[in-house]
Amino acid sequence: MTQNEIKQDVDKYVLHTYNRFPIAIDHGNGVRVYDADGKEYLDFMAGIAVYALGYDFPGYDEALTDQLLKTIHTSNLYYHEPLARAAKALVTSTGLSKAFFTNSGAEAIEGAIKAARKYAWEKDGKNNHEIVAMNGSFHGRSVGALSVTGNEHYQAPFRPLMGGVRFADFNNMESVRAAVNDATCAIIMETVQGEGGIYPADPQFMKEIRKLCDEKDILLILDEIQCGMGRTGKMWAYEHYGIKPDILTCAKALGCGVPVGAFVLNEKTAAHSLEPGDHGTTYGGNPLVCAAVAEVFRLFESTGIVGHVAETTPYFEKTLDKLVLDHVSVKAHRGLGFMRGLELAPEYPVSAVVNKALDKGLLIISAGNNVLRFVPPLIIGEKEIDEAAAILDKCLG
Ligand SMILES: *Cc1c(COP(=O)(O)O)cnc(C)c1O
Repeated sequence: MTQNEIKQDVDKYVLHTYNRFPIAIDHGNGVRVYDADGKEYLDFMAGIAVYALGYDFPGYDEALTDQLLKTIHTSNLYYHEPLARAAKALVTSTGLSKAFFTNSGAEAIEGAIKAARKYAWEKDGKNNHEIVAMNGSFHGRSVGALSVTGNEHYQAPFRPLMGGVRFADFNNMESVRAAVNDATCAIIMETVQGEGGIYPADPQFMKEIRKLCDEKDILLILDEIQCGMGRTGKMWAYEHYGIKPDILTCAKALGCGVPVGAFVLNEKTAAHSLEPGDHGTTYGGNPLVCAAVAEVFRLFESTGIVGHVAETTPYFEKTLDKLVLDHVSVKAHRGLGFMRGLELAPEYPVSAVVNKALDKGLLIISAGNNVLRFVPPLIIGEKEIDEAAAILDKCLG
């Protein structure tokens, strides 16, 4: 099909919930993707922080193909080897206790919410438990996940949502304390807010949240669906803070392309929450996605890619800082590792910059209302950072 034919049929037959960029992506190679007309793009969005290893990474396709030829689905009524390998890798890397695999990030959040409520219910048998979530957060589009997403625009048409949610301001401990009460069973937040505009948690805030949760036996759910899996220069972003969550959610780069998420519980939560009959999924953790997850962890280890992110971060940082200095359109620069945002002045619409970049062969996306978001494949080096910056230089005028 030609690019135009693809666009026409997608617009005609697919429900219009996305305003898509006017290109049809055909394939990728390394950190480049190609549209159906053969035009090449440098990819600094990685399918929204999914393609951490870029495209065609040696070993990844082979692992998937090998599994494809055996079986791709078993249901969760049977054991299978890829599940054993994926779960062991994920649990070992987090230092937590038990994993449950899902098909998406939103489903990981749903599971985390259920685990937190069950934990509290087991303690006191009450049905009044509340969750404290953050303004400006994003946790997904299903009703439970949407209920803890602090974005009026996303929530408004769908009320009433799940009850028992209070919102506090991210990085504002006083506002969190005001929202917490005896019925609070969990605090949920992203370690680095992504969709909201790339805001890392303040170290002091994170420390105090952890302390408050410990004092009151409130479960801390950290959503690392976007910021986990090496993106910040540590395997998990919470490692920057010297704390651990009680429940971790991950997805996006967990399978580096296949649809897989997970929630991971620490020992205390695993021992006192979801039991047989409490939660399930037909597809979740199937052999195909688990083979991908196991291979991703193996490749992360053998390539030392997280160390590469940490080593390259200062260069990325310096390059984006220079864009702030050189362009009045750029007001600020924030981020951690390879998860970065450039905040634009109000009179410069982000969408115009993103579209210009697309035209010039660079894929980037926005976050919040006025932030250019950079979540490139973790394999990019200084050369690609220079190349992206040179294109942006021409787009930010
Ligand atoms: C993308 C994202 C989600 C939702 O994941 P889906 O796979 O789209 O359901 C949840 N939380 C965060 C932080 C995300 O970035």
